[in-house]
Amino acid sequence: MHSPAFILWFTGLSGAGKSTIAAELARELTRRGLDFEVLDGDVVRENLSKGLGFGKADRDINVRRIGWVAGTLAKHGCIAIGAAISPYRAVRDEIRAQYPRFVEVHLKVPVEVCEARDVKGLYKKARAGELTGFTGVDDPYEEPLHPEVVCETHQETVAQSAAKILHACERLGYLSPGASPVADGASGAAR
Ligand code: ADP
Repeated sequence: MHSPAFILWFTGLSGAGKSTIAAELARELTRRGLDFEVLDGDVVRENLSKGLGFGKADRDINVRRIGWVAGTLAKHGCIAIGAAISPYRAVRDEIRAQYPRFVEVHLKVPVEVCEARDVKGLYKKARAGELTGFTGVDDPYEEPLHPEVVCETHQETVAQSAAKILHACERLGYLSPGASPVADGASGAAR
């Protein structure tokens, strides 16, 4: 029987950097030999939540499903990384209440920056009215009030955000201190 792990829960607008930072953390957790799973919002919607829409009720169901899977994985010693917009505070807090080893990471990026990145071309479609109910454009995003970590990815590098998150997990006692992820440049020093 493994000791319980924890949930790392990313929340933020589309294009804020959830998938990118999750991938960076995945590299570091692999390097440390730790068991983890990334529950990426887009992948979950293609599988576990296929058929769900983007109204509030379906969004809540989707996020609750991710929370349930994440909690189950964590119970068995697997670090669960949830990387979905998860726009509604109440449902995120509901998952936190169920699984106290919960590290909420707010990717706090202005919508203008996410829109300029427009990784998947979705903001353009939303502005053109081809997509409705798009978070940050014509659907709400409720910021966390007390996230464990805030990453402003328009003002910090992927490596800096990843290091900040790992340090928070270490500070909370959920991860043993380890070498920091390979930082920008050659030093690799913790920041
Ligand atoms: P999300 O999963 O939140 O929708 P993505 O990770 O798919 O967002 O996209 C974020 C985009 O922003 C990527 O193209 C990434 O390269 C870029 N980006 C630029 N700077 C950063 C940063 N510091 N952290 C994360 N992503 C960044």
